[in-house]
Amino acid sequence: ADWAAAVAAVEDLPPDGRVQLICHVNPDGDALGSMLGFGLGLRRRGLRRLRATFPGPPEVPEPFRGLPGLDLLVPATEAYADPDLVICFDAASESRLGELVDRLETAGTALVLDHHASNTRFGHVNLVDPHAAATSVVVEELLARLGVPLDAGIAECLYVALSTDTGSFRFEATTPAVHAMAGRLLATGIRPGDISRRIFDTRPFGAVRLFGEVLSRARLEPAAAGGHGLVWTYATLDDLTRHDQRPYVLEALIDSVRCTAEADVSCVVKQTGPGEWAVSMRSKGAVDVSRVAVALGGGGHRFAAGFTGLGTAADVVGSIRVQLDGALITPGA
Ligand code: 5GP
Ligand code: MN
Ligand code: MN
Repeated sequence: ADWAAAVAAVEDLPPDGRVQLICHVNPDGDALGSMLGFGLGLRRRGLRRLRATFPGPPEVPEPFRGLPGLDLLVPATEAYADPDLVICFDAASESRLGELVDRLETAGTALVLDHHASNTRFGHVNLVDPHAAATSVVVEELLARLGVPLDAGIAECLYVALSTDTGSFRFEATTPAVHAMAGRLLATGIRPGDISRRIFDTRPFGAVRLFGEVLSRARLEPAAAGGHGLVWTYATLDDLTRHDQRPYVLEALIDSVRCTAEADVSCVVKQTGPGEWAVSMRSKGAVDVSRVAVALGGGGHRFAAGFTGLGTAADVVGSIRVQLDGALITPGA
């Protein structure tokens, strides 16, 4: 990783330098938390012309509306057209930047902070650590190298990012270094109980009922992928309308599906438009779902990946099914 170049990109900015922070479309906790935490760090360094944004619908999911640094957020239409520095968070490829992708050309310098193994190194300077549990791990190190101390605001952002991408410190990526970082964040006085309840354990009653309906139509296919089970369900725009819910409430649905004991691979197909679906996949280890996702035009991590599917929900699952055998992880590989 090119730490010296990344530090220089920030240190060389004039005091009135314009910095545009960008994260991936449909931002999750790591994307928003890493972006806002770093933005707060740059503000502490004295930079004042800072804007943060993301492509696509400008709505911040309700669980993240208490994040510190939200005042940095502007709609994508108000992003700097030609910033001195653009910094991209948690985006594996340019396609995840939607209509903001042109900033890679118009910005003086493009800095990419990420942790996806599939990252295409699309910036001028790329800090990509595929071994990092979250982009926020890269952010914490860069802040330290810039001499910015953690405060409670920065720490809360980075804690949200770290705890969401590690599944509340449950996934394999939860190394001693991850817990050590969580320790440094908690030492600033932030309250993990309050944060976790807000992020993971709060949803509207309508979403509880919606989950009940969508989970009741889940299918288990025991014979998929050479004996490795596949469990899947889908949610339509009509489901959202009938329960008066926003699309982001469905982000947590995969966690209720992937617990299925009989399945190695789980999948949730979420309608985003006519014949268009956002697909979430998870694996318990037998299958590399990022290979399935890349084959279908998306990306992600070995055990958590996604793509945009077309046709009916059954068509989308069919397209996954034919990829599964080729994505089996061979023992010892
Ligand atoms: P989730 O299922 O939580 O939306 O996404 C899981 C992982 O898959 C994330 O790391 C995300 O980067 C990746 N991912 C999800 N959807 C897409 C997509 O449409 N395109 C790409 N390139 N990656 C995706
Ligand atoms: Mn993300
Ligand atoms: Mn991430």
